[in-house]
Amino acid sequence: MDTFPQLLEHGFEGLHLFADPKTGLRALVGIHSTKLGPALGGTRALATYESEAAATTDVLRLARGMTYKAALAGLPHGGGKAVLMLPRGWFDRGTLFEAFGRAVETLNGRYITTEDSGTSPDDMEYVKRYTRNVVGLKATSGDPSPVTAVGVVRGMEAVAKHVFGSPDLKGARVTVLGVGHVGFALAGELSRRGAKLFVADLNREALDRTVKELGATPVNDRELLSMEADIFAPCALGAVLDDRTIPLLRVKAVAGAANNQLAEARHGKLLAERGITYAPDYAINAGGLINVAQEVVGYDRAKALERAGRIFDTIDALLARAKATGKRPEEVADAMVEEKLEA
Ligand code: NAD
Repeated sequence: MDTFPQLLEHGFEGLHLFADPKTGLRALVGIHSTKLGPALGGTRALATYESEAAATTDVLRLARGMTYKAALAGLPHGGGKAVLMLPRGWFDRGTLFEAFGRAVETLNGRYITTEDSGTSPDDMEYVKRYTRNVVGLKATSGDPSPVTAVGVVRGMEAVAKHVFGSPDLKGARVTVLGVGHVGFALAGELSRRGAKLFVADLNREALDRTVKELGATPVNDRELLSMEADIFAPCALGAVLDDRTIPLLRVKAVAGAANNQLAEARHGKLLAERGITYAPDYAINAGGLINVAQEVVGYDRAKALERAGRIFDTIDALLARAKATGKRPEEVADAMVEEKLEA
């Protein structure tokens, strides 16, 4: 598909391409919106993009998602994203990320980058040599997972308020799929609130640590999906809610940290038809973005945690409006963002 129709259809401000033959840099930066402030979003790096068209579609989809996430979290940022098509053979990673830093600098602060899948805080140190428009550095905001987890658990409390009549998670049975960085931190928050935890992870070490340190009950991942519980928290990969898994669920709500939980938009409808309340992923997992946005103005972990805690209010408002209008939570979330952008 041609690129301009994609940009025009979704109101993109621009798509920038950068190439550097010396380092092998091939970078795409999609800027969806700077209406609410500089576009903020991570850099994804992959060696496996099949084509430039595939990388373009990916960067545009992700950049637009960032506008929605930042706006709903009340951040003074728009949405952008970068995709690096990495060279297939050996390459010098440091010089490639330095070249990317120079590319970001040419955008004059309209785009601020950070790490994402396939990139690390170490890569961002190279980027930082050539631009100030990079956050998510080790020495400043560090690992975002504890902040993301606080946002998710507060969002879950708002879900509990609507679904069970009280935000108190004491005694609530919560199934957590994936206890890596964010899943483990979330399990910690839940355990401190007295929830009953059931956890699954393909990684034995991650699972054992959660069982030993937090007293969670280990379950295999297939069993976990069909367990009777109060809330299911997807914290592994995306697209976990699909035609196969939704009919298995025996929970009243889904509220977790994973990105892109619905395999397709129509799966939100399927959840609603089964009477399962869904906390839209980009609304409840914004803590990581809130954490790096704090770095833009001067990092302060207490402020980032406080701001992530306000995800309670976002989910509370969203579910109240969903109930009042008969719309699904993810439809309400999108509408709330679009109203903000239009205003
Ligand atoms: P991670 O890699 O540290 O953890 C993911 C865990 O899921 C791993 O332990 C892995 O073994 C496990 N896993 C993967 N596939 C599985 C499966 N099929 N069954 C069971 N376990 C499985 O990643 P993370 O940083 O914790 O992120 C998890 C999710 O949350 C991702 O979707 C990420 O995009 C999203 N997210 C994370 C943050 C953050 O601050 N870390 C912020 C926003 C969104």
